[in-house]
Amino acid sequence: MAKNILQNELFESFANASDNIYIYVCDMQSDLSRWSKNTVDYFDLEGEYIENAGAKWMEHVHPDDRDLYLKDIEAVFSGASSRHSCQYRAKNKYNDYVWLECKGSVISDEDGRPLVFAGIMTRLDNQNKYDPLTHLLTSFEMQKYDFSIGNGAILLLGINAFRKINNTNGFLYGNKVLVTLAECLEQFAGKNNRVYRLQGDEFIILSPNGSKGELCEIFENINDYCINIRGLKSFSVSAGVVSYPEDGTDFNTLMSNLEHSLEYAKEQKQGWISEFSEKISKRHYRTSQLHEALTKSIHNNFEGFELYFQPILDAKTKKIVKCESLLRWKTPEIQDATPYEFIKLLENSGEIREVGFWVMEEALRHAAVWQKKYNNIAVSFNVSYIQLLDGDFIDKMIEKAKELQVNPRLVTVELTESCNAEDTDMLSRQFEKLQKLGFQIAMDDFGTEYASFGLLHDVNMDILKIDQKFVRGLIREGNMADMAIIESVVDMCRKLSIQTIAEGVETEEIQDIIRSIGVSFLQGYLYSKPVPADDFERMIMNEQC
Ligand code: C2E
Ligand code: CA
Ligand code: CA
Repeated sequence: MAKNILQNELFESFANASDNIYIYVCDMQSDLSRWSKNTVDYFDLEGEYIENAGAKWMEHVHPDDRDLYLKDIEAVFSGASSRHSCQYRAKNKYNDYVWLECKGSVISDEDGRPLVFAGIMTRLDNQNKYDPLTHLLTSFEMQKYDFSIGNGAILLLGINAFRKINNTNGFLYGNKVLVTLAECLEQFAGKNNRVYRLQGDEFIILSPNGSKGELCEIFENINDYCINIRGLKSFSVSAGVVSYPEDGTDFNTLMSNLEHSLEYAKEQKQGWISEFSEKISKRHYRTSQLHEALTKSIHNNFEGFELYFQPILDAKTKKIVKCESLLRWKTPEIQDATPYEFIKLLENSGEIREVGFWVMEEALRHAAVWQKKYNNIAVSFNVSYIQLLDGDFIDKMIEKAKELQVNPRLVTVELTESCNAEDTDMLSRQFEKLQKLGFQIAMDDFGTEYASFGLLHDVNMDILKIDQKFVRGLIREGNMADMAIIESVVDMCRKLSIQTIAEGVETEEIQDIIRSIGVSFLQGYLYSKPVPADDFERMIMNEQC
């Protein structure tokens, strides 16, 4: 009967549920128990089925915790308590003690005789001395360090785009990157420094007597190393660095300053390291303020948000034929946040999804009016990649366009931030749905590291917007490269029936060059900055009368 009890479907499904949860069931009549495979592996048990496991498990329990553990278990077995629940340390296969939270219960027959004892042990990773994956010390250990004594420095290192590495190559590959990096950190950090692993892809090097400068040097070596590790695709790291007592004398302050420095470094460029400074502190303060105010605006029915419109001209006739909707945001307290600044924050927090719906509806509302009033002016609006991850953005857009009776041919979606486009199949599917109905898709900022030939190959685009950087570069002396690039891009687009828009046309000189290359449309300050809807209407009226 014992094996019947133990061979249970529920056990199988629970046993595979998670890496840091361990399961066991025990037939109390025969004292035969079954342990999930990950328990057998991680605690180096003799096998899945174990007789008299209680005594054997006791050898794994930390000597200091044995009394507590025994007392709890005996209470369950004697019937004094129906549930086993306690936290204790147990030795794993590396001979390290890890904290476990153990919860179990006894099921008895009608006569009250105990039949089955089943339990779940959860590894309390944040209380463990060593990280089970990399075997480095954990942040729990770091918290014990007394930063109020001595002069030292700390480096916080993070892997750039680790989520993308995991998503594209799989979880196991991600683990391999973490383990390899952990080894590299130990090697480069040297004997006098300590290495810790925090949550996810973040690591610490603590240099008890070192300086920021020394840690910066170590960082450079690590970053160089990461670019070329055998067996792994190239990746890069970024870091923040603080010193104590200057930047703090307790764990929480130092960690918070480190996180802000790392955040700043990641914003600068991949492979960057930044030392904590007053500037970083102020920046963080502003970010928090902006974020708070943005959330308030969103909850207040998008108060403070407004769409501006920038005309786009036909390159041949130089008449306004389209416009781009560009988001603006102001509150009585915050008047100077640029779209680059607040849109980045909205993207990071995910709130761009909500705001994106608002932008889409506003843009379509204007498109509906202008298509009738001004003889088919087309309207485009910007959509970040993450807005499309939800799946219902496109459906809602189609629904709204129908409700407002907008001609889909006069609406363009501009895909910005395509750097994050991990799932190009999903993008293709969603865009196809729109394209079948006549909506147009544009790739924004073509030529930057984010929007490139790769994406153009994977996703069917109707319009390509050449980034301002290239357009402005046209008049830089001796700059033949930008000219050659734009010419070949425009030529390629013509062959693929993709229309082109040159952004950032600021002077007559640029305009003339761009027109001679054969770009389809022009956009830039030479014609107009983005303006409120009323001003834009006036502009079209002036032109049309
Ligand atoms: P973008 O889509 O590349 O928009 C063009 C930006 O270039 C606009 O900046 C525009 O004002 C500016 N610009 C246009 N012509 C010229 C010129 O001749 N010279 C110069 N120097 N700049 C010119 P803006 O409005 O500050 O928007 C910045 C970015 O914010 C946009 O870049 C876009 O990526 C993003 N964005 C704006 N509105 C939205 C939105 O509703 N949703 C999303 N997801 N992103 C938006
Ligand atoms: Ca755009
Ligand atoms: Ca652009």
